Amino acid sequence: PEDVHDDAMGTYLAEILEHTAADTSGAVADYIPQLRAVDPGLHALAVTTADGVSHSAGDDGHQFTIQSISKAFVYAMAVDDLGLDQVITAVGMEPSGEAFNEMSLEGGTGRPLNPMINAGAIAVHPLLDGSEHDPMAGGREHHTRTEAVRRRTARIVEGLSCFAGRELTVDFASADSEYDSAHRNLAIAHMLRIHEIITGEPAEAVRGYLDQCSVLVTVKDIALMAATLANNGVNPVTLERACSQEAARLTLSVMATCGMYDASGRWLARIGIPAKSGVSGGIIGVLPGQVGIASFAPRLDGAGNSVQGVEMFEKLSSEMGMHLMSNE
Ligand code: GLN
Repeated sequence: PEDVHDDAMGTYLAEILEHTAADTSGAVADYIPQLRAVDPGLHALAVTTADGVSHSAGDDGHQFTIQSISKAFVYAMAVDDLGLDQVITAVGMEPSGEAFNEMSLEGGTGRPLNPMINAGAIAVHPLLDGSEHDPMAGGREHHTRTEAVRRRTARIVEGLSCFAGRELTVDFASADSEYDSAHRNLAIAHMLRIHEIITGEPAEAVRGYLDQCSVLVTVKDIALMAATLANNGVNPVTLERACSQEAARLTLSVMATCGMYDASGRWLARIGIPAKSGVSGGIIGVLPGQVGIASFAPRLDGAGNSVQGVEMFEKLSSEMGMHLMSNE
């Protein structure tokens, strides 16, 4: 495995960053105090091939909270732990066409439409079993969380770390500040409880889900996580299996149709790469068998996707011929 900086690919990525930096439209997410404080001029781009060669440019050492990008990986973990038949009773796989934080539940079943929106991720999170995990793994100071929440968070951090090939940590201060005003996510969790999609305490589901969203990553981490999906679930650097081939395929399918929220159709038509974005400004894209791509730039468009990140992917996809629906 290589981590290359002074190379043609690195220079090319730096050029893309320079080009996209000109667009300062959009705004950083302001509903989470930690995100409001970010320097909006930060930007980074990384690619990791499915056989583990990495290139990156820009602020590639900057750590940010993973936010909704975690949803893709935790879905893969749930599919492996419980099997798709069980997971599908809790969450569907149809695009919602609505905002990421919409109370979007299917009529009749009360299931969230897909795991890439908040409702779906809050339904998936408590499916994971943390009972074998150390409740002290995140540190002793997190006494505001129940033991069940701490165990599940430990389970999820372990799983995400396997995808990333290093031990990730949680920014608990960010999670706490988000929890203090998480009324919408709590409302979603209570709706899920009413429909018996979740059976435990709604507040515990949201607590754990926000810890999951607050795992700290760099653009290089999420490029390798994406490359692990591209490599059928095996981390190409550590050679550890992070999820099954089936879970990777299902996750990529759901990313393709639902990963960019209500801009998913437009994204697939214009860029043609299964992807997942997060409100802190990250986007991952995966070309199966080929490459994982990750961008970071904090200003978001109306759908909650990074403005410059979308432009970076657009440029990469068209210049490198990455559109999956095209046969150039
Ligand atoms: N923690 C965020 C929330 O639940 C994640 C949303 C996102 O990244 N789009 O609102």
